[in-house]
Amino acid sequence: MNQTAKIINRAKKENRKALLEPEAKTICMEYGIPVTKFKVASNEKEAAKYSTEIGYPVVLKIVSQDIIHKSDAGGVIVNLKNPAEVTEAYKKILENIKKYNPKARIAGILVQEMAPQSTEVIVGAIKDPQFGQTVMFGLGGIFVEILKDVNFRIAPLTMDDAKEMITELKAYPLLKGYRNTPPADIDALISILSATSRLVMDNPEIKELDLNPVMAYQKGAKTVDARIILE
Ligand code: ADP
Ligand code: MG
Repeated sequence: MNQTAKIINRAKKENRKALLEPEAKTICMEYGIPVTKFKVASNEKEAAKYSTEIGYPVVLKIVSQDIIHKSDAGGVIVNLKNPAEVTEAYKKILENIKKYNPKARIAGILVQEMAPQSTEVIVGAIKDPQFGQTVMFGLGGIFVEILKDVNFRIAPLTMDDAKEMITELKAYPLLKGYRNTPPADIDALISILSATSRLVMDNPEIKELDLNPVMAYQKGAKTVDARIILE
């Protein structure tokens, strides 16, 4: 687990509480949590080169310790289909960020694989002052924001805990498949919850973790955005 420790130590040294998306995703990978392929570019040419390597369509995102909610800042552009679109999006993101926060420190532009649309789920963790590391699971969008249909369990999670967090959701029938929605790979989601539990148990300095969204597929799942906040 040396990448994880390295990333956390570097952030501490630099006095950063919020890890950057590529840092959070590298930690996820080390724990076996599937994430979109990505590379950090520092100029347009590099962004185009990485896009070709990753394969179109791609998504470009701002990487900045000063921008926590990237889309609010105009820092996310999806579905780029060729090098010309990538170059244009690269410029556009820098322009948007400059308007949003001229002082934002920019570490680069993240080029990543565009994950096919699917049922979006959210995996979270929070360090509760009383109960310690606690893991959360829910479906994305209105299910979390309006219906508050989420389940929590105190880490470390057993396999049964992880399974129940999913099957006891009110929206579980949606994950089992409904009309045009194919059934989601529940085992893949259980595995992400178990890995998240291990991740936060191994790293008590993590105060918050947010995988939002994770695309749930018929086979497998993929984390599209990852945020980790340190104490
Ligand atoms: P933030 O939450 O910081 O605003 P996200 O990385 O979550 O930024 O991007 C915002 C939205 O863009 C996501 O909720 C998702 O709908 C879409 N998105 C981001 N990255 C991808 C990707 N790699 N593939 C598909 N959709 C994506
Ligand atoms: Mg997000």
